[in-house]
Amino acid sequence: MEVIDKKFVSLNNMMTKLRKKKCPPEGLLLLFPHCIQNSTCKQNIKHDINECKRCGKCKVMDLLALSEEYGVSIAVASGGRIALKRVMAEEVQGVVAIACEKELRTGLMAAMPKAIYAVPNLRPHGYCVDTDVYMDDVIKAIKFFVKNHKKVS
Ligand code: SF4
Repeated sequence: MEVIDKKFVSLNNMMTKLRKKKCPPEGLLLLFPHCIQNSTCKQNIKHDINECKRCGKCKVMDLLALSEEYGVSIAVASGGRIALKRVMAEEVQGVVAIACEKELRTGLMAAMPKAIYAVPNLRPHGYCVDTDVYMDDVIKAIKFFVKNHKKVS
């Protein structure tokens, strides 16, 4: 199944690239899984992402910095249904979604035809705990949506 999930994710990204969807930074949502938060961290970022103290023990700090740098929205995917509701909101024109391939496939199928660039996470400690992500992949995905975006006046 893992192979199918990976193939589905790369096919999705290929289709998203072909669509050449552009959107203003404020129309882009950066969604990441709660398991990226360091497992020893007591901050309730699920309740409010700004509870992150930016200590640098996990990539939440980097993702927050990136969302500020590019002016894009950011959210923790705290549950399948809540995440889907957020993704499907009318104001969300594009999504950069970080997760494991299995979650990505499920989410991509449910959110079709929303333009989503999927970024598989890294799992040095296995699934769902202290996961990680290549920031270069996230930056590439954000730039894909917001670079050369032309404002409609
Ligand atoms: S950067 Fe530090 S404070 Fe923020 S979520 Fe990660 S461990 Fe917690």
